Amino acid sequence: SVKKNGKNSFVYFSNEMTIKAKKRLYLEQEVRLALANDDFHMVYQPKIDVKTQRITGAEALIRWHHPKNGIIPPNEFIPVAEQSDLILKLDSYILDKVINQISRWQKEGLEVPVISVNIPSREFQRGDLVASVQDTLRKYQVVGNRLEIEITERLLMDHCEDNIKILNRLKDLDIHISVDDFGTGYSSLSYLVQFPCDVLKIDKSFIDQLPQSKDNCKIVEAIIMLAHKLGKSVVAEGVETEVQYQYLSALGCDQIQGYYFYKPLNKNDFAIKLDKVQFKSFTNVSQIKAC
Ligand code: C2E
Ligand code: MG
Ligand code: MG
Ligand code: MG
Repeated sequence: SVKKNGKNSFVYFSNEMTIKAKKRLYLEQEVRLALANDDFHMVYQPKIDVKTQRITGAEALIRWHHPKNGIIPPNEFIPVAEQSDLILKLDSYILDKVINQISRWQKEGLEVPVISVNIPSREFQRGDLVASVQDTLRKYQVVGNRLEIEITERLLMDHCEDNIKILNRLKDLDIHISVDDFGTGYSSLSYLVQFPCDVLKIDKSFIDQLPQSKDNCKIVEAIIMLAHKLGKSVVAEGVETEVQYQYLSALGCDQIQGYYFYKPLNKNDFAIKLDKVQFKSFTNVSQIKAC
């Protein structure tokens, strides 16, 4: 019977593998199709300055409303795309969409804050990210300092020398760099010092249990202190309550991203929140006229 159990569990296991492999292949095909049909769109989740409570940035997040299967969350299809070169196509597509959108908002006379885009670490070792970003910025006449790239902690560990070079080239274009989901990986402190990044984003998993979990309180406090010592700013992601906000504010956290302030917004709802560009000289003229 032991043998039989062993055999059964093997059969079950291999069936499960087949289902997973089939699902992966199906998703991969559907992502290719969706790219060709331009079926994805981006939403923008504001980041708030803790002190002024004003919008200082936003994270661009991809959304997919599949014609047959409904909404497919990024956590399902991004990892599939990451298993092949598909992720390179998807990233270029996202960069093009976001930079085009920044340019449109600017043409509408809106003050556009820094918009961040997620770039999985694998992209850094393949393709030419820097050239592609630079070309897209040029294509839409957007300056680099409107763009932020969210990298993962994994990048701080893999292929260090090459990645530092790439990040430095991005910094030369005035692009901001933030480390996403900070605290969940095992980034070495010496790499963190060497890496040209401006922002640490504390992962939601640490924020969730604030301030009940004393351990998480200590971790969050330590990350904020470390970041400030290194001259970096800190974003807390996934802030959902007033208590969390107050606690992070007391610890000196710089920015907040989370449902407590804003859920991800579609492009029009986000644009409504933005200020109009102020032309100081015009204001002076009208003030003089008014007098
Ligand atoms: P992430 O980069 O850490 O993004 C933050 C995720 O947390 C987003 O989920 C956001 O909607 C969610 N979130 C923010 N505040 C709160 C909150 O207060 N409560 C809760 N419960 N959730 C909150 P989303 O959009 O489903 O994205 C999940 C992950 O998928 C992202 O994690 C990122 O790794 C990936 N992803 C999303 N969009 C893109 C993209 O355009 N490109 C790539 N490469 N990855 C993306
Ligand atoms: Mg992110
Ligand atoms: Mg994150
Ligand atoms: Mg996260």
